[in-house]
Amino acid sequence: MDTPSNPETWVRCSPSRLNGLDKCPRQLWWKYETEEKEPTGFWAARGLVVEAMCMSVVRNNRFLNGHNGLEDLNSHSLEAEGRRAWQEQCDKSPDLISFNEEMEKQFPRWVAGASLYQHTGELTDEQFFCELQFEGLPRLIGYGDLEVIEHGRYVIRDIKAKGQLSKAVELGWRRQLTMYALSRAIKYGLDQLPVCEIDKISVGKTPGFLRIPVEISGEDISELIRQLEKLQYHIENSYWPQNRVSDLCMEGKCGFYSRCVYGDMIPFNDSIERCDALSLLQKRDLHGVSSFFGSGT
Ligand code: SF4
Repeated sequence: MDTPSNPETWVRCSPSRLNGLDKCPRQLWWKYETEEKEPTGFWAARGLVVEAMCMSVVRNNRFLNGHNGLEDLNSHSLEAEGRRAWQEQCDKSPDLISFNEEMEKQFPRWVAGASLYQHTGELTDEQFFCELQFEGLPRLIGYGDLEVIEHGRYVIRDIKAKGQLSKAVELGWRRQLTMYALSRAIKYGLDQLPVCEIDKISVGKTPGFLRIPVEISGEDISELIRQLEKLQYHIENSYWPQNRVSDLCMEGKCGFYSRCVYGDMIPFNDSIERCDALSLLQKRDLHGVSSFFGSGT
């Protein structure tokens, strides 16, 4: 299958595209270089709903601080915000409606996880735009979740929803934080990078919340540049190979599965032509192989 690239499509690129490259380059090609539509994933929607509920905790906290000091959060408003956010995702991607039942089943856990979120520090920005460019490479753009000032320093927080709590920080999250931190340091003219933290919410059987500090080092910046260079190579060479060993590569997890896998199959006769050893077999044996695969020779 030819996989031509249009460099215009990649002039600007988000951290999630960079992370997508690790999972499957061909999926990036389907998503951004073709007109093919991918159904919205349930898990991505879950992340956005939980994030919206955590932002609601932040708003409640600020409201209560401004009026009565710290008090219990109003969990009803979290639930209402979660439902509003789910509806917003369904409006954007109507195919999500088919997950309504699953969402209803899981929703109490999402609310329980988000209600444990703890906001600290003085909020300076939320859903803030970041951009960053390294010479000759695609411009990175994205939105950070929260920025606060705490103990006299800027702190960037990114909210992640997971099925269970652990201190693990995925490489893709580090990339996001590296990009946000560099972008904000440039914007504010800081002489050191902001503090970075992952706010992990467990929305599994045991609800929980963990704030994980992530120290951004030269290694992270180098890794970010290397990943951008890798992307640049794929763009320049129209090279978007499949990754059939990706965890994503199965029906139901990759929205392009049937188009991708069956569309890229080598016709049976061509496969046989390529196999030197098969020329040793009798023709009648090939007929047997062929009918086994359900394709004519
Ligand atoms: S079906 Fe597999 S190889 Fe194809 S885009 Fe999806 S994950 Fe990649």
